[in-house]
Amino acid sequence: MVRDWPPELENMTAVVAATLGRDGLLARSNAGFRRIAGTGEADPAGTDVSHLFVQPDFAALCRAVDEGAEGAYAGMLTMGDYNGLTRTLHGRVDRCGDGLRLLIEYDVEDLERINEAFRKLNDAHALLRYQLVQANQALQQQNATIEAAALTDPLTGLGNRRHLDATLDIELQRAARTGEPLTAIMADLDHFKNVNDRFGHEAGDQVLKAFGAAMRAQTRAMDLVARFGGEEFVVLLPHTPLEGGRIIAERMRATFAETVVPPLREPVTASFGVAQARGAETAESLLQCVDKALYKAKQSGRNRVVAG
Ligand code: GH3
Ligand code: MG
Ligand code: MG
Repeated sequence: MVRDWPPELENMTAVVAATLGRDGLLARSNAGFRRIAGTGEADPAGTDVSHLFVQPDFAALCRAVDEGAEGAYAGMLTMGDYNGLTRTLHGRVDRCGDGLRLLIEYDVEDLERINEAFRKLNDAHALLRYQLVQANQALQQQNATIEAAALTDPLTGLGNRRHLDATLDIELQRAARTGEPLTAIMADLDHFKNVNDRFGHEAGDQVLKAFGAAMRAQTRAMDLVARFGGEEFVVLLPHTPLEGGRIIAERMRATFAETVVPPLREPVTASFGVAQARGAETAESLLQCVDKALYKAKQSGRNRVVAG
């Protein structure tokens, strides 16, 4: 079938040459073809290589050759290789007896160098993307940590004033929208100045920590316990009416009135004001209400809860 196959073509890699039958079976191939087809050094004659032709596919290529001027197709050929990659090359397919002869000028080594360069670029790109994703995750974690720190009181680990302000706005809006009750408690340690004076600031800090923990222990996860100021705390109780808030405050008061925080030798007590948000309540007016109730608790003897 193949008569005009120059002998020097046999070992060339800069030219891809093959003859094949219309059944797609390879009749003869040169080194360039075997290299892109990945058939190795063994004689690949008889191998079905029709699948290597992607665009036009093998059937379309046969038709193009038959319909082409001079019984040939000259143009772009997209061919798959053994790696599953495709390459678009300029080539020529001639009718050759009953079969076809494929001839592509193709510098395999050059193209493979280019392919390798692309592969390396892709690898570098993938690595960069991976590093970017990692850096983003680290940044998000740092941001979350910074954000949490910005909302936390460092001494007690409770929410700080900023956290309270933000949560209060959200909860007031939610209560107004849903009609669910929202109650706030304000607590202030009694005669706390004396604690510092008698046992030192360090001991005072321990009492503040213990008081914060005792308050937290009496609340649900959805409640916010925040350190409002020096020895003042505010608790926000969503879905809780005034009486529910009073009961919780009373539990806090009773627990703490029996808690001795070393090196103190007797309990420190606290006073509590409780108020429920009314319609059209603002953060400011709700805090004023609990502050007023707290003031009454102080006035009427301390170590007590005043609701209303
Ligand atoms: P009252 O029963 O009327 O509330 O009296 P009080 O002594 O608790 O109130 P006062 O406002 O006179 O004093 C509050 C004290 O709380 C004074 C201040 O030194 C102390 N304090 C505020 N912040 C801290 C803190 O972070 N650590 C310690 N150890 N003490 C604090
Ligand atoms: Mg006080
Ligand atoms: Mg105070």
